Amino acid sequence: MKLLFALAGNQNSGKTTLFNRLTGSNQHVGNFPGVTVEKKEGPIKKRPDATVVDLPGIYSLSPYTSEEIVTRDFVLNEHPNGIINIVDATNIERNLYLSLQLIELGIPMVVALNMMDEVRASGNSIDVQKLSDQLGVPVVPISAGKNEGINDLIDVAIKVASEKRTPQKYDFCEGEVHKAIHAIAHIVVDQAAEAGLPLRFAATKLVEGDEPTQKLLNLDEDQKHIIEHIIEDMQNELGTDREAALADMRYTFIEKACAACVTKHQETREQVRSERIDRILTNKWLGIPIFLGIMLIIFWLTFTVLGEPLQNLLDQAIKAGTNALSDLMVSVGASYWIRSLIVNGVCAGVGSVLSFLPIIVLLFFFLSMLEDSGYMARVAFVMDKLLRKIGLSGRSFVPMLIGFGCSVPAIMSARTLSSERDRKMTILLTPFMSCSAKLPIYGMIIMAFFPTHRALVMISVYVIGMIVAVLSGLLLKGTVFRGNPVPFVMELPAYRIPAPKSVLLLMWEKAKDFLHRAFTIIFMASIVIWFLQSFDIRFNMVADSSESILAGLGSLIAPIFVPLGFNDWRASTALITGVTAKETVVSTFTVLTGAATDADLAAALSTIFSPLSAFSFLVFTVLYMPCVAAFAASRRELGSTKSAIFTAAYQTVAAYLVALAVYQIGSLFLL
Ligand code: GDP
Ligand code: MG
Repeated sequence: MKLLFALAGNQNSGKTTLFNRLTGSNQHVGNFPGVTVEKKEGPIKKRPDATVVDLPGIYSLSPYTSEEIVTRDFVLNEHPNGIINIVDATNIERNLYLSLQLIELGIPMVVALNMMDEVRASGNSIDVQKLSDQLGVPVVPISAGKNEGINDLIDVAIKVASEKRTPQKYDFCEGEVHKAIHAIAHIVVDQAAEAGLPLRFAATKLVEGDEPTQKLLNLDEDQKHIIEHIIEDMQNELGTDREAALADMRYTFIEKACAACVTKHQETREQVRSERIDRILTNKWLGIPIFLGIMLIIFWLTFTVLGEPLQNLLDQAIKAGTNALSDLMVSVGASYWIRSLIVNGVCAGVGSVLSFLPIIVLLFFFLSMLEDSGYMARVAFVMDKLLRKIGLSGRSFVPMLIGFGCSVPAIMSARTLSSERDRKMTILLTPFMSCSAKLPIYGMIIMAFFPTHRALVMISVYVIGMIVAVLSGLLLKGTVFRGNPVPFVMELPAYRIPAPKSVLLLMWEKAKDFLHRAFTIIFMASIVIWFLQSFDIRFNMVADSSESILAGLGSLIAPIFVPLGFNDWRASTALITGVTAKETVVSTFTVLTGAATDADLAAALSTIFSPLSAFSFLVFTVLYMPCVAAFAASRRELGSTKSAIFTAAYQTVAAYLVALAVYQIGSLFLL
């Protein structure tokens, strides 16, 4: 028999870590609430007949956030054979709140009590047997991080599911709530069976006033009336509203259960430490300056201290490789055009991008350290007040920060935002955060025009992106996206030392991703560009690329950019090819100018741009529409081609206007 397990639990309780242990896979683990957006599934190790699905982290089964909807739909519609409910033992009261709701579903369930290593280390203890008696489901103590108890957990889960052992208790309530739940359950027995909803779950949801359940049950007017009446009575008796009454009931039970089986002498070491660190890092005055300081140090380390030497090294290796390859081809008598294709097309195009590998890996290394340590969640918290001023909430900070790496995952992570308005606005603004694929462009322009002002130009480019995002936020808040961002509630995870494996894994994945792009999209683009610039319309090889097909195409649109200061077909061509992937801007220039060395490229660029127009070009590339991959992601997330085109058009127009302002105002001063 095939068994399907749902892995459900609060955010940051270690679900993904456990999932990786169970399946032997390598999903990204992050010390940040909301990292797992999509559900992932995989077979359990050595149990090929059992599959487990990692669901997004949730605190309850109400349909308030998209994560809750994903999880709830999965559990209700896919009918898993068992639920593995992961509970963070260092935060047991809050985690059990979800457990009680899962139990109501009447599906065989086991509680995986995670992070027991931290509980033990702080001298606290939990009586697992007693807890299991209280809850009426088996409880297995584990430490996913330390790989302890996983086999026990698998055994128990498979046993519970194959024996169809449903939870032994549902009734955690007493008094008025108890009366109401039972009375309502009585009324909806038939409808719940028809709708395929667990009776107890349906009844509690009705008490809560949950709309999807009301619709699913298809109640008639009479029944609705009676139910409302019952609930009104309950509210009057208790003097609280319906949701609070249920929450109260659950927490009362949890408190009693924990009093009986949790021995807590002290907060865990991690909690004490976290509180102490937070007093400084989330301080009202120091929070933002500290964050800016940390980012400055990260950029400095990435670009200057570590990145530059590594990049130079790699660059030399690539040049040497290209020369060796070229010599080899001459010696075997390869024809001129083959040599030109390989050396001037492929090697030049791919090579110019490839040398940025160290910088990109380093940037992701630091970003993942920030995330894994738990600091990123604090920054979102500190930034909430500022983001609110431009119509966003602290939640939007995460996509924006990921946007400095790559817009594609950034746009996808906007999915964790619960309000549609916040989500759309975040998707529109995120690409203004300069992504790492644009780094090669900055590197190229800086080397040619501003070698002595490297840091200044770099920072100004990033800052311009952020300023445009802020101004756009202000503009959109008052026009297209009226309304207020939803209140920001996010729990701050404990500070933890990042797990080396998780960090290395992420770096490796980013490197792989980057190499993959270099050898697919950029490889192809380099060949196409080489072809278009080597032949004319009659497919004769041209002596000078200014007579080529590409020159013809580029010249058509070049006049549009005259007000921005550059009127060269190579610049406009690079901007167009840049839409396939931003790095292509660099490979395009390299191929088009036929530059063999960085010095050649710099010399060629100085015939295309003046320093001012080069800067205006730079500003345009930071802001204009993102690459096709990011465009596709935003189309998917916005769910409409029209919105995606509006978004891209907005970004491109903004880019044009800002670059125009830079060039025109700059010209006034430079005259
Ligand atoms: P998710 O959000 O529920 O998927 O949680 P993750 O699997 O991403 O883990 C959140 C954080 O808890 C990460 O920093 C993990 O390294 C850490 N973690 C997970 N399991 C354990 C454990 O058993 N012990 C300890 N000390 N840390 C853990
Ligand atoms: Mg996760």
